[in-house]
Amino acid sequence: MIHIQSLIDDAKCFETVRTLRWPDGVFCPHCDSFDITKQGRDDTQPERQRYLCQSCERRFDDLTDTIFAGHHQPLRVWILCLYFMGLNLSNHQIARELELNKDDVHQMTCQLRQGIVCKKPSPTFTDEVECDEVYIVAGHKGKPEEVEKKGGAAGADASKGNAAAAPSPRRSPRSSG
Ligand SMILES: [Zn+2]
Repeated sequence: MIHIQSLIDDAKCFETVRTLRWPDGVFCPHCDSFDITKQGRDDTQPERQRYLCQSCERRFDDLTDTIFAGHHQPLRVWILCLYFMGLNLSNHQIARELELNKDDVHQMTCQLRQGIVCKKPSPTFTDEVECDEVYIVAGHKGKPEEVEKKGGAAGADASKGNAAAAPSPRRSPRSSG
């Protein structure tokens, strides 16, 4: 039995992330400046590049503000998951290939579809968050298009919709369209 994970190169995985999130060159996730310098490698993941922003003087690395940061799955598992999604494999098939729990894979594919860079929460969150409208979350399951419609059509009411429909700050109704 050949395990695909053992054939994957960590360096290539980090390179893939850099290409996906910074197609025009590395920029600071805090202030969007392109004026950055490399600052060595991560202590435990030697392929993970660290940077220092010359504008705001904050540090970040390849995975800062991505869905991969602080996750227990190694980056190669995420990249393979992304690859299998491109092949239109089902969550069930991906779970089998990566020897993961189907629920974990479901969560991963959902996150990957939202994009690999965490959306910065919109400023309205800090002022008003109405937590009593959590009922929308229950409606999510199996009906992503309904949530989408609601988020898109909400308009002036968007801040309420955001708060209610967002169990995590990553989920934002700001879609590509
Ligand atoms: Zn900066």
